[in-house]
Amino acid sequence: MLFLPICNYNGPFLSIRRTYDECPKCCSVERHRLQFLVFQELFKKYDTSKLSMLHVAPEKVFRRIFEENFLEYVTTDISKRRSVDYQADLRNLPFEDNTYDFVFASYVLEHIKEDEKAIIEIRRILKPEGVAILPVPIVSKKTIEYPEPNPYESYHVRASGQDYFKKYEKYFEKVVVFSSKDFPQEYQMCIHEDRSLFPNKKAPLREPMKGNEHDDFVPVCIL
Ligand SMILES: [Zn+2]
Repeated sequence: MLFLPICNYNGPFLSIRRTYDECPKCCSVERHRLQFLVFQELFKKYDTSKLSMLHVAPEKVFRRIFEENFLEYVTTDISKRRSVDYQADLRNLPFEDNTYDFVFASYVLEHIKEDEKAIIEIRRILKPEGVAILPVPIVSKKTIEYPEPNPYESYHVRASGQDYFKKYEKYFEKVVVFSSKDFPQEYQMCIHEDRSLFPNKKAPLREPMKGNEHDDFVPVCIL
C-alpha cells in the first residue's frame, strides 16, 4: 500500500500536459512531495514553533503546513494574482535586515536573470543562522543561461544543472542538497518527464537527458 507524503492519498494520479503526477487530493506534484519530506527533516531539527517563515510565491499546498508549524508565517509574491501579505520583487524586498528565520522560495530563481541579487536579498533579510530553501528545476547536466526568458518554458531564464547550487555556497555558510535518492523510492518523488527530445524548436538551448525519471533536489542553505 502506497501512501503519499503530505495528504496520505492512495490512488492514481492526474496527468496534465506531461506525465505530471498531480495528487487529486492535495494537488501536490512530485517536487512538492520531496520538499515536504525535507521539511519533515527540518521540523525534527528546528523548533519552528518559535521561528518565522517568509514564503515566496506561496504554493497553496504548503500554506497550511507552514502556518501550523511556524510561529510567524508571512507570504510574498511579485504578482497580484496570488493573495499574499506583501507584493514585492525578490531583488528588492520591503523587509529590514535580520527579519526571518526561514525563507522558502521554490522554483523562483529560474525566472530571475539577476538571481544573485535575489540571493543576496534573501541573505540580508535572514537572521543569523537563518535557513533558505531555494530549489530550482534541475533540467540539465550543466547550467545553461538563456539570452532571454523562454516563453515556452514559463519564461525561465536558464536551464539549471546541479552545478547551480554552487552559487549558493558563495553566500551561505553551508549548503546541504537533499535528493530524491535520500528518501524511500515508493513515494515517487522523481520528476517524470521525457527529456530525450531536447533540444527542440521551443527550447533550442536545452540538452537531451536520458530516461523518464529524473532525480529532484532540495538545497537547504544555512547562514
Ligand atoms: Zn496529496
